[in-house]
Amino acid sequence: MVSSQLVPRGIRDEKVLAAMRKVPRHLFMPAPVRYTAYDDMAMSIGEGQTISQPYMVAVMTELLELTGTEKVLEIGTGSGYQAAILSELAAEVYTVERIALLAERAQAKLNELGYGSVHVVVGDGTIGFESEAPYDRIIVTAAAPEIPAPLVRQVKEGGIVVAPVGERYSQILLKGRKVNGRLVEEYSTPCAFVPLIGEHGWKE
Ligand code: SAM
Repeated sequence: MVSSQLVPRGIRDEKVLAAMRKVPRHLFMPAPVRYTAYDDMAMSIGEGQTISQPYMVAVMTELLELTGTEKVLEIGTGSGYQAAILSELAAEVYTVERIALLAERAQAKLNELGYGSVHVVVGDGTIGFESEAPYDRIIVTAAAPEIPAPLVRQVKEGGIVVAPVGERYSQILLKGRKVNGRLVEEYSTPCAFVPLIGEHGWKE
């Protein structure tokens, strides 16, 4: 996966590549589809949701510029795989999932695999997670019409937000750095994520 999908497409951060080599992606997937775990695609994890394509996980993680000391907020826990990758590269990870069953499964898997620095929260991540704010980094792994305003408030000055932003079925990955209270945005890869549903996202 790393040598055939990530390196040829330009993922250069050695720490990101090492994390992608280390975390057992197949263990975050339902048993019947585990054989596809290292293929170049997103895959269903039940409840109408997906585990993101490996390349998308790598790009988003690289855009976060993690150094190991950060407190990170993820919106969209899904399988817990992205959270495990983040915990390899940051100090502490809070991850919010709106579907309780997925959150419970992800927390159980993360605990079983020893990812004790990941805290899974059930709720609407479009309002962020105020009680642990501010965060050094925020990553949104579902498609948003725009970056939810509460997330801009909850990231630290100088911090980074990465999110797929655009239409419901097609987006561009956006990286924003907070400067003087506002996000200075740059765009990267086109992508297609499941919708971010909530108060500051899409309606159900
Ligand atoms: N990061 C995940 C992984 O590693 O498996 C993949 C996330 S999946 C593409 C998007 C997830 O976002 C789904 O599990 C979905 O239920 C969740 N989601 C959608 N809207 C949400 C919201 N407002 N708050 C929290 N989670 C949300």
